[in-house]
Amino acid sequence: MKALIVVDVQNDFCEGGTLEVKNASEIIPIINNLITLFKKNKQFIISTKDWHPKNHKSFAVNSNKIIGEIGELNGLPQVWWPEHCIEYSFGAELHPELFYIENTIYKGTDPNVDSYSAFFDNGRKRKTQLGNILRKKGIHEIYIVGLATDYCVKYTVLDAIDLDFKVNIVEDACKGVNLQEFDSELALKEIVHKGAHLIKSTDIKF
Ligand SMILES: [Zn+2]
Repeated sequence: MKALIVVDVQNDFCEGGTLEVKNASEIIPIINNLITLFKKNKQFIISTKDWHPKNHKSFAVNSNKIIGEIGELNGLPQVWWPEHCIEYSFGAELHPELFYIENTIYKGTDPNVDSYSAFFDNGRKRKTQLGNILRKKGIHEIYIVGLATDYCVKYTVLDAIDLDFKVNIVEDACKGVNLQEFDSELALKEIVHKGAHLIKSTDIKF
């Protein structure tokens, strides 16, 4: 069995959200096609949600910092973000046009550490259940799509490689924040260098 991991396709990361990725919703029909394909072939599908308590310290307002600047949070480099994906809020919900996905992993729930990867927090102190869930199902190969290429997609891919999964990143089904102009391009280069396979959604066949 293979797995499709749909990273953070939440309202706050889409158009009109507090941490909007430009043209994010363009990837939704592509992801929906993949959800249909994976369901039809009885493969595993799981979504991830950035899920922060309101007092999360990665929010600039809670750490007395300026949005977009880089500082340090508990000894780790930290970009200061606008408030986003606050637990149970509309912004934290998956985009309404995204097809239904039965399984969800929540990350970023600890107010003292950010969590870009769907496997571990940024300090690698705690893990989510994602690795265990995939292993229990005997899954060795995964396909990663979603938001944003240069943060949560990138770190999810890097951890998946570390955990010995065969990782495919579906380029046309991801979009980046690009705080700096070439961040997404550099992220893709880095993850390919580390061993991920860069593919197009139309390359996926069962
Ligand atoms: Zn976040």
